[in-house]
Amino acid sequence: MTSKPSPARAWTMRTQIAQALGNVDETTRGVVPPIHVATTYVRDPDNAYRSGYIYGRPDNATVREAEALIATMEGAADAIVTGSGTSAATAVFLALAPGDHLVVPKVMYWSLRRWLMAEATDWGLRVELVDTADLDALAAAVRPGETKLVWVETPSNPLWSLTDIAAAADIAHRAGAALAVDSTCASPVLTQPLALGADIVMHSATKYMNGHSDVVAGALATAAPGPLWERIRRNRTTLGQILGPFEAFLLIRGMRTMPLRVAAACASAAALAERFAGHPRVAEVLYPGLASHPGHAVARKQMKGGFGGMLSIRVHGGERAAIDAAARVELWKRATSLGGVESLIEHRASIEGEGSPCPTDLLRLSTGIEDVEDLYADLDRALRAAND
Ligand SMILES: *Cc1c(COP(=O)(O)O)cnc(C)c1O
Repeated sequence: MTSKPSPARAWTMRTQIAQALGNVDETTRGVVPPIHVATTYVRDPDNAYRSGYIYGRPDNATVREAEALIATMEGAADAIVTGSGTSAATAVFLALAPGDHLVVPKVMYWSLRRWLMAEATDWGLRVELVDTADLDALAAAVRPGETKLVWVETPSNPLWSLTDIAAAADIAHRAGAALAVDSTCASPVLTQPLALGADIVMHSATKYMNGHSDVVAGALATAAPGPLWERIRRNRTTLGQILGPFEAFLLIRGMRTMPLRVAAACASAAALAERFAGHPRVAEVLYPGLASHPGHAVARKQMKGGFGGMLSIRVHGGERAAIDAAARVELWKRATSLGGVESLIEHRASIEGEGSPCPTDLLRLSTGIEDVEDLYADLDRALRAAND
């Protein structure tokens, strides 16, 4: 059994996260609750299941601990974790009905966009792409009474454009649609979409939440469970998208340090953005924290405590120069993904492939928690060498 501390005081969010809500194992008084691995549970003699657990696919106590922590961070009434960020996102889309119209961003997490264009349509969903950062365009794309879901990603891959969540929620709600926000890159540390009016917030918990590049997981949270949410929950129970207990445990452990990791990544990303903005080999730096970034004003409004750990640089000399620079780094890891303690560099167009809106001279940077001077020196040398 796990005991929860009584909420005698309103501890701050950072305190609650640091202690993973203060759960203690009742049997041993261990400060870290055990990992619950059982797939099945003993029925009471009177045939009831008083513990609340019946079988491992619908539910698991370690998974519930992760969900409670996520719900607390997002100010949510309910949260669920799934086996990946993609399974969390698709759980939302697949809870819609055939014929439903949905509006999604033109520029968003690439493989999810590809799934929406290539597969979601086979389920009868009518998918419309729009630049969600442009509120007039968003308002024009949403069809009152017909659009059931507006999906936004902010800051969005790989240009880090910002969508005004409060305004998007307004537009969606006036048309009778729900707003879901992929908040992976902001993390719950920097943005709380539900407080801004979103109905559902989604995370690839693989990224900042876990933060150590060793768990693939997803999360969804809602402020007010309605019919759409109930269907998502039912689907997770019956279709089996639940995260495994070991992964849920690692995710909880990762989340305990998330505020510190995200703060460090934000500080370094901001410093790198400033320095590379004046770099002779760099044509453009894309970072919401720069006053020159088109999403800066919205970022100031809805991101608290930093502008994120993600930035992109566009390199003079085009695609070849960008790939060459990435080839020469020694400290940055040449890898996809983001949000881990180690810094990653990626020639994004190479992974997105045909039809990608990503410029070919773009390098995507996920800033980790290493010394920012080392990070700068390594990439500076790689950029200069690539052109010598
Ligand atoms: C990684 C990512 C996803 C997909 O998550 P997985 O855990 O890889 O399935 C979705 N959205 C964003 C913004 C991501 O970075």
